[in-house]
Amino acid sequence: MKKWSLKGKNAFVTGGTKGIGLEIVEEFLSLGAFVFIVARDENNLLNIIEKHKGDKIDGITCDVSVKEDRLKVVKLLLKKLDKLDILVNNAGSNIRKKANEYSEEEIKYLFELNYFSAVELCRGLLPLMKLSQKASIINISSIASILDDGTGFPYASSKAAVNQFTRSLASEWGKYNIRVNAILPWFIKTPLTEDYLSNNENYTKIVGRTPLNRIGMPDEVSSLAAYLAMDVSSYITGQSISVDGGLSGTVFGR
Ligand code: NAP
Repeated sequence: MKKWSLKGKNAFVTGGTKGIGLEIVEEFLSLGAFVFIVARDENNLLNIIEKHKGDKIDGITCDVSVKEDRLKVVKLLLKKLDKLDILVNNAGSNIRKKANEYSEEEIKYLFELNYFSAVELCRGLLPLMKLSQKASIINISSIASILDDGTGFPYASSKAAVNQFTRSLASEWGKYNIRVNAILPWFIKTPLTEDYLSNNENYTKIVGRTPLNRIGMPDEVSSLAAYLAMDVSSYITGQSISVDGGLSGTVFGR
Protein backbone atom coordinates (compact mmCIF):
# COMPACT_ATOMS: atom_id res chain seq x y z
CA MET A 1 0.00 0.00 0.00
CA LYS A 2 1.31 3.45 -0.97
CA LYS A 3 2.21 5.61 2.06
CA TRP A 4 1.34 8.91 0.33
CA SER A 5 -2.30 8.07 -0.23
CA LEU A 6 -5.77 8.71 1.17
CA LYS A 7 -7.33 5.57 -0.32
CA GLY A 8 -10.02 4.10 1.94
CA LYS A 9 -10.40 7.32 3.93
CA ASN A 10 -13.60 9.34 4.38
CA ALA A 11 -13.13 13.11 4.57
CA PHE A 12 -15.50 15.96 5.41
CA VAL A 13 -14.46 19.46 4.26
CA THR A 14 -16.51 22.55 5.17
CA GLY A 15 -16.47 25.34 2.61
CA GLY A 16 -15.20 22.93 -0.02
CA THR A 17 -16.50 24.80 -3.06
CA LYS A 18 -14.09 27.74 -3.42
CA GLY A 19 -10.57 28.91 -2.60
CA ILE A 20 -8.55 26.90 -0.08
CA GLY A 21 -11.39 24.46 0.67
CA LEU A 22 -11.92 23.53 -2.99
CA GLU A 23 -8.18 22.99 -3.45
CA ILE A 24 -8.16 20.69 -0.39
CA VAL A 25 -11.14 18.74 -1.79
CA GLU A 26 -9.44 18.28 -5.18
CA GLU A 27 -6.15 17.26 -3.53
CA PHE A 28 -7.94 14.69 -1.31
CA LEU A 29 -9.88 13.30 -4.31
CA SER A 30 -6.66 12.94 -6.31
CA LEU A 31 -5.20 10.93 -3.41
CA GLY A 32 -8.18 8.53 -3.45
CA ALA A 33 -10.36 9.73 -0.53
CA PHE A 34 -14.15 9.91 -0.43
CA VAL A 35 -14.94 13.59 0.23
CA PHE A 36 -18.16 15.08 1.61
CA ILE A 37 -18.47 18.86 1.22
CA VAL A 38 -20.77 21.62 2.52
CA ALA A 39 -21.24 25.25 1.51
CA ARG A 40 -24.18 27.67 1.24
CA ASP A 41 -24.45 28.25 -2.54
CA GLU A 42 -26.33 25.24 -3.92
CA ASN A 43 -25.56 25.83 -7.62
CA ASN A 44 -21.87 26.07 -6.98
CA LEU A 45 -21.93 22.97 -4.78
CA LEU A 46 -23.77 20.93 -7.44
CA ASN A 47 -21.35 22.15 -10.14
CA ILE A 48 -18.34 20.99 -8.10
CA ILE A 49 -19.94 17.58 -7.49
CA GLU A 50 -20.82 17.29 -11.21
CA LYS A 51 -17.28 18.30 -12.26
CA HIS A 52 -15.87 15.45 -10.14
CA LYS A 53 -18.57 12.88 -10.80
CA GLY A 54 -15.99 10.18 -11.64
CA ASP A 55 -14.56 10.61 -8.14
CA LYS A 56 -15.98 9.73 -4.74
CA ILE A 57 -17.68 13.00 -3.79
CA ASP A 58 -20.97 14.08 -2.23
CA GLY A 59 -22.30 17.07 -0.33
CA ILE A 60 -25.21 19.21 0.80
CA THR A 61 -25.87 22.87 1.41
CA CYS A 62 -25.27 23.95 4.99
CA ASP A 63 -24.57 27.28 6.63
CA VAL A 64 -22.04 26.31 9.31
CA SER A 65 -22.62 29.59 11.16
CA VAL A 66 -26.14 28.33 12.00
CA LYS A 67 -26.46 25.80 14.83
CA GLU A 68 -29.49 23.98 13.32
CA ASP A 69 -27.64 23.52 10.00
CA ARG A 70 -24.56 22.15 11.78
CA LEU A 71 -26.67 19.67 13.75
CA LYS A 72 -28.45 18.62 10.53
CA VAL A 73 -25.17 17.75 8.79
CA VAL A 74 -23.82 15.93 11.86
CA LYS A 75 -26.99 13.81 11.99
CA LEU A 76 -26.74 13.04 8.28
CA LEU A 77 -23.06 12.01 8.46
CA LEU A 78 -23.65 9.83 11.52
CA LYS A 79 -26.20 7.93 9.41
CA LYS A 80 -24.31 7.96 6.11
CA LEU A 81 -20.73 7.02 7.07
CA ASP A 82 -19.31 4.02 8.88
CA LYS A 83 -16.34 6.13 10.04
CA LEU A 84 -14.82 9.59 9.55
CA ASP A 85 -11.05 9.74 9.03
CA ILE A 86 -10.53 13.42 8.15
CA LEU A 87 -12.43 16.53 9.25
CA VAL A 88 -11.34 19.86 7.77
CA ASN A 89 -12.94 22.88 9.43
CA ASN A 90 -12.21 25.30 6.62
CA ALA A 91 -15.34 27.47 6.12
CA GLY A 92 -14.67 30.93 7.49
CA SER A 93 -14.84 34.58 6.68
CA ASN A 94 -14.18 38.08 7.92
CA ILE A 95 -15.71 41.53 8.31
CA ARG A 96 -12.97 44.16 8.24
CA LYS A 97 -13.68 47.12 10.54
CA LYS A 98 -12.13 49.19 13.32
CA ALA A 99 -12.64 47.81 16.85
CA ASN A 100 -15.30 50.34 17.85
CA GLU A 101 -17.29 49.93 14.65
CA TYR A 102 -18.38 46.29 15.12
CA SER A 103 -21.91 45.56 16.27
CA GLU A 104 -22.31 42.81 18.86
CA GLU A 105 -24.14 40.74 16.20
CA GLU A 106 -21.15 40.96 13.84
CA ILE A 107 -18.74 39.82 16.56
CA LYS A 108 -21.01 36.91 17.50
CA TYR A 109 -21.49 35.97 13.84
CA LEU A 110 -17.73 35.74 13.25
CA PHE A 111 -17.33 33.52 16.32
CA GLU A 112 -20.23 31.29 15.20
CA LEU A 113 -18.72 30.92 11.74
CA ASN A 114 -15.01 30.67 12.52
CA TYR A 115 -15.01 29.06 15.98
CA PHE A 116 -18.29 27.46 17.11
CA SER A 117 -18.72 25.69 13.77
CA ALA A 118 -15.42 23.85 14.37
CA VAL A 119 -16.28 23.13 18.00
CA GLU A 120 -19.72 21.72 17.23
CA LEU A 121 -18.61 19.64 14.23
CA CYS A 122 -15.66 18.13 16.12
CA ARG A 123 -17.79 17.24 19.14
CA GLY A 124 -20.77 16.01 17.11
CA LEU A 125 -18.65 13.84 14.83
CA LEU A 126 -16.48 12.35 17.60
CA PRO A 127 -18.27 8.95 17.52
CA LEU A 128 -17.49 8.60 13.79
CA MET A 129 -13.87 9.71 14.26
CA LYS A 130 -13.38 7.19 17.09
CA LEU A 131 -14.49 4.48 14.63
CA SER A 132 -11.66 5.52 12.28
CA GLN A 133 -9.12 4.63 15.00
CA LYS A 134 -6.70 7.13 13.39
CA ALA A 135 -8.63 10.28 12.52
CA SER A 136 -7.10 13.64 11.69
CA ILE A 137 -8.80 16.99 12.34
CA ILE A 138 -7.42 19.97 10.45
CA ASN A 139 -8.59 23.42 11.50
CA ILE A 140 -7.92 26.24 9.05
CA SER A 141 -6.90 29.15 11.26
CA SER A 142 -4.94 32.23 10.15
CA ILE A 143 -1.70 34.12 10.74
CA ALA A 144 -4.06 36.80 12.15
CA SER A 145 -4.47 34.47 15.16
CA ILE A 146 -0.88 35.13 16.27
CA LEU A 147 0.02 38.52 14.71
CA ASP A 148 -2.09 41.63 14.37
CA ASP A 149 -2.34 42.40 10.66
CA GLY A 150 -5.15 44.94 10.93
CA THR A 151 -7.77 42.42 9.88
CA GLY A 152 -10.08 43.25 12.80
CA PHE A 153 -10.18 41.78 16.31
CA PRO A 154 -13.25 39.46 16.02
CA TYR A 155 -11.72 37.44 13.15
CA ALA A 156 -8.29 37.39 14.84
CA SER A 157 -9.73 36.40 18.23
CA SER A 158 -11.97 33.69 16.76
CA LYS A 159 -8.96 32.16 14.98
CA ALA A 160 -6.83 32.42 18.17
CA ALA A 161 -9.61 30.48 19.92
CA VAL A 162 -9.38 27.87 17.15
CA ASN A 163 -5.63 27.44 17.86
CA GLN A 164 -6.22 26.84 21.56
CA PHE A 165 -9.18 24.53 20.85
CA THR A 166 -6.80 22.60 18.58
CA ARG A 167 -4.25 22.13 21.39
CA SER A 168 -6.87 21.17 23.98
CA LEU A 169 -8.53 18.59 21.70
CA ALA A 170 -5.16 17.15 20.70
CA SER A 171 -4.39 16.55 24.39
CA GLU A 172 -7.81 15.11 25.23
CA TRP A 173 -8.42 13.01 22.15
CA GLY A 174 -4.90 11.59 21.69
CA LYS A 175 -6.20 8.57 23.62
CA TYR A 176 -8.54 7.84 20.69
CA ASN A 177 -5.61 8.28 18.26
CA ILE A 178 -7.33 11.39 16.90
CA ARG A 179 -4.80 14.01 15.83
CA VAL A 180 -5.75 17.70 15.77
CA ASN A 181 -3.71 20.39 14.00
CA ALA A 182 -4.25 23.93 12.77
CA ILE A 183 -2.97 25.54 9.58
CA LEU A 184 -2.26 29.27 9.72
CA PRO A 185 -2.18 30.82 6.23
CA TRP A 186 -1.04 34.36 5.45
CA PHE A 187 -2.54 36.00 2.33
CA ILE A 188 -3.63 33.34 -0.16
CA LYS A 189 -5.15 34.11 -3.58
CA THR A 190 -8.84 33.13 -3.17
CA PRO A 191 -12.25 34.78 -3.69
CA LEU A 192 -12.08 35.90 -0.03
CA THR A 193 -9.00 38.08 -0.58
CA GLU A 194 -9.66 39.11 -4.20
CA ASP A 195 -11.19 42.51 -3.41
CA TYR A 196 -8.63 43.45 -0.77
CA LEU A 197 -5.66 42.46 -2.92
CA SER A 198 -7.04 44.19 -6.01
CA ASN A 199 -6.17 47.46 -4.25
CA ASN A 200 -2.58 48.14 -5.31
CA GLU A 201 -1.63 49.78 -2.01
CA ASN A 202 -2.82 46.73 -0.03
CA TYR A 203 -1.09 44.32 -2.41
CA THR A 204 2.24 46.16 -2.28
CA LYS A 205 2.11 46.40 1.52
CA ILE A 206 1.41 42.66 1.93
CA VAL A 207 4.04 41.49 -0.56
CA GLY A 208 6.55 43.97 0.87
CA ARG A 209 6.27 42.36 4.32
CA THR A 210 6.61 38.79 3.02
CA PRO A 211 10.12 37.29 2.76
CA LEU A 212 9.13 35.15 -0.25
CA ASN A 213 7.99 38.36 -2.00
CA ARG A 214 4.55 37.14 -3.10
CA ILE A 215 1.16 36.05 -1.81
CA GLY A 216 0.44 32.31 -1.47
CA MET A 217 -1.61 29.98 -3.66
CA PRO A 218 -4.36 27.61 -2.45
CA ASP A 219 -2.37 24.50 -3.41
CA GLU A 220 0.39 25.63 -1.04
CA VAL A 221 -2.14 25.16 1.78
CA SER A 222 -3.85 22.03 0.44
CA SER A 223 -0.55 20.13 0.21
CA LEU A 224 -0.01 20.63 3.96
CA ALA A 225 -3.63 19.64 4.64
CA ALA A 226 -3.08 16.44 2.63
CA TYR A 227 0.10 15.68 4.58
CA LEU A 228 -1.68 16.19 7.92
CA ALA A 229 -4.58 14.03 6.70
CA MET A 230 -2.33 11.10 5.75
CA ASP A 231 -0.94 8.45 8.10
CA VAL A 232 2.59 9.66 7.19
CA SER A 233 2.08 12.50 9.71
CA SER A 234 0.94 10.09 12.45
CA TYR A 235 3.15 11.60 15.23
CA ILE A 236 2.14 15.23 14.60
CA THR A 237 -0.66 16.64 16.74
CA GLY A 238 -1.55 19.81 18.65
CA GLN A 239 0.43 21.98 16.23
CA SER A 240 -0.32 25.36 14.65
CA ILE A 241 1.60 25.38 11.40
CA SER A 242 2.09 28.61 9.43
CA VAL A 243 1.94 28.74 5.63
CA ASP A 244 3.06 32.33 5.35
CA GLY A 245 6.00 32.85 2.99
CA GLY A 246 8.18 33.52 6.05
CA LEU A 247 6.09 36.38 7.50
CA SER A 248 5.89 35.10 11.09
CA GLY A 249 9.67 34.67 11.28
CA THR A 250 10.60 38.25 10.44
CA VAL A 251 10.30 41.68 12.05
CA PHE A 252 11.24 43.96 9.18
CA GLY A 253 9.92 42.00 6.21
CA ARG A 254 12.15 42.04 3.16
P1 NAP B 1 -13.31 31.75 0.27
O1 NAP B 1 -12.56 31.86 -0.97
O2 NAP B 1 -14.27 32.84 0.64
O3 NAP B 1 -14.09 30.36 0.31
C1 NAP B 1 -14.86 30.07 1.46
C2 NAP B 1 -15.57 28.75 1.29
O4 NAP B 1 -16.35 28.53 2.48
C3 NAP B 1 -16.55 28.73 0.13
O5 NAP B 1 -16.69 27.40 -0.32
C4 NAP B 1 -17.86 29.21 0.79
O6 NAP B 1 -18.98 28.76 0.01
C5 NAP B 1 -17.76 28.52 2.14
N1 NAP B 1 -18.46 29.22 3.21
C6 NAP B 1 -18.34 30.51 3.58
N2 NAP B 1 -19.18 30.79 4.59
C7 NAP B 1 -19.84 29.63 4.86
C8 NAP B 1 -20.84 29.27 5.78
N3 NAP B 1 -21.36 30.16 6.63
N4 NAP B 1 -21.29 27.99 5.80
C9 NAP B 1 -20.78 27.08 4.93
N5 NAP B 1 -19.83 27.36 4.03
C10 NAP B 1 -19.37 28.63 4.00
O7 NAP B 1 -12.32 31.64 1.54
P2 NAP B 1 -10.80 31.13 1.59
O8 NAP B 1 -9.91 32.28 1.35
O9 NAP B 1 -10.64 29.91 0.79
O10 NAP B 1 -10.68 30.82 3.14
C11 NAP B 1 -10.86 29.52 3.66
C12 NAP B 1 -10.41 29.51 5.11
O11 NAP B 1 -9.04 29.94 5.18
C13 NAP B 1 -11.19 30.45 6.03
O12 NAP B 1 -11.38 29.85 7.27
C14 NAP B 1 -10.28 31.67 6.15
O13 NAP B 1 -10.49 32.36 7.36
C15 NAP B 1 -8.93 30.99 6.12
N6 NAP B 1 -7.84 31.88 5.71
C16 NAP B 1 -7.79 32.39 4.44
C17 NAP B 1 -6.75 33.23 4.08
C18 NAP B 1 -6.61 33.81 2.69
O14 NAP B 1 -5.73 34.67 2.51
N7 NAP B 1 -7.41 33.41 1.73
C19 NAP B 1 -5.76 33.56 5.02
C20 NAP B 1 -5.86 33.04 6.31
C21 NAP B 1 -6.89 32.20 6.64
P3 NAP B 1 -20.39 29.53 0.08
O15 NAP B 1 -20.11 30.97 -0.11
O16 NAP B 1 -21.22 28.90 -1.00
O17 NAP B 1 -20.96 29.23 1.43
